[in-house]
Amino acid sequence: MGKNSIKYYSTNREAPKVSFGEALLKGLAPDGGLYMPDIIPSLNKADIENLFSLDYPHVAYRILNSFLSGEIESDKLLELCLDAYNFDIPIEKIFDRTYILRLDQGPTLSFKDFAARMMARLMSYYISIENRHFTILTATSGDTGSAVANAFYGIENIDVIVLFPAEEITDYQRKQMTTLNKNINAVAINGKFDDCQRLVKKAFLDQSLSECCLSSANSINVGRLLPQSVYYFYSWSRIAANTDEAVIFSVPSGNYGNLMGGILARNMGLPVKKFIISANENDEVPKYLQSGIYNIIDPSINCISSAMNVGHPSNMARIIALYGGMMNREGEIKERPDFNGIIKDFAGYSITDEETRETIAAFYENYERIIEPHGAVAWRGMEMFREEYESFETDSPLYVSLETAHPSKFREEIVKILGISPDIPVQLSRIENIEENYTELENDYSELRNFILKHKNNTR
Ligand SMILES: *Cc1c(COP(=O)(O)O)cnc(C)c1O
Repeated sequence: MGKNSIKYYSTNREAPKVSFGEALLKGLAPDGGLYMPDIIPSLNKADIENLFSLDYPHVAYRILNSFLSGEIESDKLLELCLDAYNFDIPIEKIFDRTYILRLDQGPTLSFKDFAARMMARLMSYYISIENRHFTILTATSGDTGSAVANAFYGIENIDVIVLFPAEEITDYQRKQMTTLNKNINAVAINGKFDDCQRLVKKAFLDQSLSECCLSSANSINVGRLLPQSVYYFYSWSRIAANTDEAVIFSVPSGNYGNLMGGILARNMGLPVKKFIISANENDEVPKYLQSGIYNIIDPSINCISSAMNVGHPSNMARIIALYGGMMNREGEIKERPDFNGIIKDFAGYSITDEETRETIAAFYENYERIIEPHGAVAWRGMEMFREEYESFETDSPLYVSLETAHPSKFREEIVKILGISPDIPVQLSRIENIEENYTELENDYSELRNFILKHKNNTR
């Protein structure tokens, strides 16, 4: 379409640049790298100030349009934003100049909804132009699968097959996938999350399935990053009180897609003073910030902030690329990035499970509010940063700590810590008594392959 379109390069730099639509539908670049925009559009001061008066869907439209204006008509894009963001995004003041951004009110009560809902609509748009049919095949340890399943539910020309480890997810997580039906196919694998991922990878490499038009919707897709830059702008625009004051964000990080959204926002012109990287016991990135040495953690450590149990975040390759370096898929730094730039922009902390539990308890005691394990990791990371730096500072900066899931998703853990249960929102209570529908497969590739082929014949 437009001649001003931004192109997307691969972080491995051995694949041709592609349009946004291609990067979105491909997911991974053919050289195994991740797609990144070759230009990050900058918003000028007036554009940014305009955000103060807009609601969330319109902020999303402004930000996404600066990336996609050559690709999608603006009316269409606005329509997609209004349709995707129809839920609350509260910013709660906890004490003076310190806020929690609650990204936990979407249909699956996790921040993954922000990206998944936009990505589903964008994919559907591109597929309808080309009159194609796609099957999204994805593996989940819980949250991603339910967000993807809900986001693609009822979307035309796309089916979803989502694999989950039969015994490793909670009842609520399973019900969020198995009570939808229509174009959503939930498959329980008699194995672990790693087995599900291995089966999915094998299916993507299987030439005999090429006619099934398999696509992924996982955290490496660039289509997830752009929508995740929006809530950084939005939260800033609600609290900076019509000034250009810079904010410090604390981001609970696992695969670092959320953080990448924030980095894009900052590179577009959002006033950000620092990103606090809050990790659980998977501390490969905080260690890297301390030492300049990056060692992956394999196998990853199981923590109660389960969505962040990642020992080698795939988005590290993108962060390294943005600072002029190159990291391969194995996590080896092939070209050194501007490390001084990195440590100027980020501070990293690793938070143990014990500290996470203490934080949930102290937060409840001090502020009479419940946060869940991921949000608690972010909050504790922010506290550690303040302990380290604030004694040297004369001003008191604005802080935003991100809460990425609703406490009710971690009810058992919260009851153990606080002795009380968080409120169960309608998104969960609604599905409690709906009949579940799913297929059970052994941890065996030929079973999955047959399932995909049979599914293809049934749907087309
Ligand atoms: C996925 C997830 C995270 C981690 O986000 P990344 O983008 O992978 O860093 C944090 N909290 C919750 C609740 C999640 O589901």
